[in-house]
Amino acid sequence: MAEPMDVDDNEPRGAKRTASEAGLPSEAPRRIKARLISTDVVNKIAAGEIIVAPVNALKEMMENSVDAGATAIEILVKDGGLKLLQITDNGHGIEVSKECYKSYRYANQTQKDDLPILCERFTTSKLKDFDDLRSIGTYGFRGEALASISHIAHLRVTTKTAGSSCAWQAYYQDGKLSPPKPGQSSDPKPCAGRPGTQITVEDLFYNIPNRRRAFKSPSEEYARILDVVTRYAVHCEHVSFSIKKHGEAGAGFSVAAAASKIDRIKQAHGAAARELIEFKTQNDRWGFSASGYCTTANYSAKRTTILLFINHRSVESSAVKKAIEQAYQLFLPKGGHPFVYLSLEIDPARVDVNVHPTKREVHFLSEDEIIDMVCTDIRERLTQVDTSRTFKTQTLVPAIGSSTINKQQSPLAGGDDKNQPSTDALPRTPASKRPYENNLVRTDSKLRKITSMLPPALTPSQSLDNHDNNTTTAASGHGIQYITTDREQVTTRLSSIKTLRAHVRDAIHQNLTEVFASLTYIGLVDPFRRLAAMQSGVNLYLVDYGMIANELFYQIGITDFGNFGAIQLRPSGSDPIQLKELLLVAAELEVQADPSLADLEPSAIVEKVYEQIYSRREMLREYFSLEVSDEGNLLTIPLLIKNYLPSMAKLPTFLLRLGPFVDWTDEAQCFHTFLVELAAFYVPEKLPQAKQKSAKETENELLTSPTRVAERDTATPESDVTAGQSPIKNRQAEEDSFITKRRVEIEYALEHVLFPAFRSRLLATQGMMQGVVEVANLKGLYRVFERC
Ligand code: ADP
Ligand code: MG
Repeated sequence: MAEPMDVDDNEPRGAKRTASEAGLPSEAPRRIKARLISTDVVNKIAAGEIIVAPVNALKEMMENSVDAGATAIEILVKDGGLKLLQITDNGHGIEVSKECYKSYRYANQTQKDDLPILCERFTTSKLKDFDDLRSIGTYGFRGEALASISHIAHLRVTTKTAGSSCAWQAYYQDGKLSPPKPGQSSDPKPCAGRPGTQITVEDLFYNIPNRRRAFKSPSEEYARILDVVTRYAVHCEHVSFSIKKHGEAGAGFSVAAAASKIDRIKQAHGAAARELIEFKTQNDRWGFSASGYCTTANYSAKRTTILLFINHRSVESSAVKKAIEQAYQLFLPKGGHPFVYLSLEIDPARVDVNVHPTKREVHFLSEDEIIDMVCTDIRERLTQVDTSRTFKTQTLVPAIGSSTINKQQSPLAGGDDKNQPSTDALPRTPASKRPYENNLVRTDSKLRKITSMLPPALTPSQSLDNHDNNTTTAASGHGIQYITTDREQVTTRLSSIKTLRAHVRDAIHQNLTEVFASLTYIGLVDPFRRLAAMQSGVNLYLVDYGMIANELFYQIGITDFGNFGAIQLRPSGSDPIQLKELLLVAAELEVQADPSLADLEPSAIVEKVYEQIYSRREMLREYFSLEVSDEGNLLTIPLLIKNYLPSMAKLPTFLLRLGPFVDWTDEAQCFHTFLVELAAFYVPEKLPQAKQKSAKETENELLTSPTRVAERDTATPESDVTAGQSPIKNRQAEEDSFITKRRVEIEYALEHVLFPAFRSRLLATQGMMQGVVEVANLKGLYRVFERC
């Protein structure tokens, strides 16, 4: 909680006053000559630039302690550091000569009189001549930190060197020694104390009231202080750190001197420490060496944490952050971020730390090359620990003439089942070759009844309305509700899911992924063969969107695992849908469709599958947002992607297949097979071509006949179009409007949902090569035109 802040409230704020009320001269202020500004004011301004918040003061003091060889650093903070900031170390202390307390005079100062000039600007014990600037190895060397603090706070220093018989205490104001109380002497006073240095900063910004008021919450300032302390605690091995809030008994954070690097990371960052790999790289040409720890692909956080040290100074670099995030892109699920501790040592002559007053951002020569080498190293190590992954870079299949696309032998038409994640090891009972082939245009009367109870797919206008809505959305009048999860995104720790992710990465095809990442959707070519055209770079491609969508949905399944939204099925005002009823529809269809199942009783199949689903409904709800009520009603199904609804006609079969096609005995297999089925359910179904009935009559008729559908499901693609003809004309008109509507929905989804998702989140796999054909490239086209 925010503690009340100690600010001076007497001064009126924000009220308009006339110049005279405000005590200002009525005429316009004259320009003040520069020399009239007192050096004191200049110092105050400079100090405010260097110390913009308590955390800056603390960082400087902590760096000084480390420079002084301290092995124990204790920090005490009150009101976020604004009231009190105290740091105690056991370092070598600051030299004080005996003369200095007798009668302090500059003239008398010996080499050892560091205390009196400690807070003068540009005094530092760390530089002897200009050349040192080029090879400085310590944290601070501008001699500005303590001077700055003394201009904007009350500063007290107690120090004892190893050779001194007692400690010395001195107070500072505006860069000079000052008396502890008015009228007293400013000279440092001997006192009892332990070896080392204690620096106490009180009432920071007491003389810059505006700045002081700008700090809203002491707890925020404390958090920033804690952050920088933990950074140094990770970096500085053999040094113990502890920080606590004034008045609290225990430390907010502490780490022992003996703690190892990994222990330190664990203390400061918890879970990240369990998944660390070490890296080290160096290069003479670019004059750097890098070492550190980074998390493996098994760890993923909401935000990237980078502890970056350049020449042992904690700094920030947006270039480093960006490069590291990029390096992890292929290893982490979408929205997942790594933890990286990176210590870079760069030839000091190449580093410019003074680009930023607080020295937070630094620049160094050959930044790009150095960052690139470090990230390549990280990537390689991630690959090594990530089983045996190989990126195969193979060029895309050679362009084929566009004339071949309508031929069934085209790789687009035939090969998609090869790319299904394998379910070979599983028992197959009521089988159709490709689970996502279940077709919407079945006209079984029961199925129609069921689908009429289910929510219709979104119409384009609804989809647009709901576009950016993250909360629960009810598309009114259609009984459909999206429930996107408000619950905290859970990070999956299940190793089974991680294994599945790794499998996808193993199969990655980088070139093809890049083709998709820069695609422009052109249009639907053939809704029956599920072909669409897209452009990427200078090439035009035909894409089997059924296959690609299948892979996309599977990948969404494993990356969003445990975080799916839900589609609520219960239409408003009507009865809930019984799971058994849905299963029965599918079972009857299957038995009908497959003559080899003729001796099976649909209701027996239903009982078995129902039992399997019902008994696992807790798990199904938690992991997949598939909710079955205690009464056996189906309440929600998983929402994989917004603004696209799978065909509800495929729902019964999807549910039925959960019985025989999901391996319920093994965790990894269970998740995998379930997600395969789920992806198949989500794949857009085949639809007949629009308004080509004369040309495609055969297909349409085939599709509108329930008996023919049975054949179709097990038929080879070649026979799809050539199989017999049994027109059932009376249903034709109704079918047409149904199909036309769905075609519009799918066309909308392709353009606005699916292809954008292919672009933004698909990792193309080797298998997809069969689903993408380059039909033309600009260069080739130009060549053709040139000949004309
Ligand atoms: P710089 O660190 O750039 O030299 P500072 O203003 O931070 O400048 O510190 C001034 C000097 O005070 C340092 O050079 C160092 O000699 C001395 N000093 C400051 N803090 C400590 C400390 N904790 N222990 C020993 N010496 C210190
Ligand atoms: Mg310093």
